[in-house]
Amino acid sequence: MQDKLYLTSHSLTCTAEILEGYHSENERYAVRLDKTLFHPQGGGQPCDKGTINGNEVLHVAQNRDGHVLHYLHKYLPLGPVELRIDGNHRRENARLHTAGHMIGHLLERIGWQAVKAHHWPGESRVVFRSSANALPPLLDDLSNHCAEQIQLAQAIFISFQAGRRQVAIGNLGQYPCGGTHVENTSELAGLKIIRIKNKKDELSVHYEMMTE
Ligand SMILES: [Zn+2]
Repeated sequence: MQDKLYLTSHSLTCTAEILEGYHSENERYAVRLDKTLFHPQGGGQPCDKGTINGNEVLHVAQNRDGHVLHYLHKYLPLGPVELRIDGNHRRENARLHTAGHMIGHLLERIGWQAVKAHHWPGESRVVFRSSANALPPLLDDLSNHCAEQIQLAQAIFISFQAGRRQVAIGNLGQYPCGGTHVENTSELAGLKIIRIKNKKDELSVHYEMMTE
């Protein structure tokens, strides 16, 4: 089985081996590696950017068999290659995604359950449902609670429980998740809650992250 290193490591470079390569749509080549640092698109997050042996990776996706495929402009022969992740892009997406977790935990405290999340730059939001007629939070209150957690510099822990990857933020709680995250909530400084929309029984919290 392919080793998905992004699930356990924050490394941005490694060597791997191309096990399979084939023509794909749009004149692209898809390659499968024995292991990968590239997070595929999914779980509300864009895929990682980066290079394989200096060649730009155009897209990364997981196929039905659970293998991560890397799409390139050109054919690469089977054998050893060097992987390099675009650290700035990874960090930008990990900050947005981890902020989504934090907002989720904070709203669960007041009776809202996160049901959907989309952490793309420029359109980040978490959608909640309430089962107990919970009141929507005030924007200032939620912003202050986020600031508190950022100030507390809570560590983010990854663990595997009964084969499921769990991502915990300090004592806030944990979610099962296969995404990329920062290591500490202090890295979420610059988080801004833009608006909170409450429509029927659905609440959506929209946010953005200032660049560092
Ligand atoms: Zn996550």
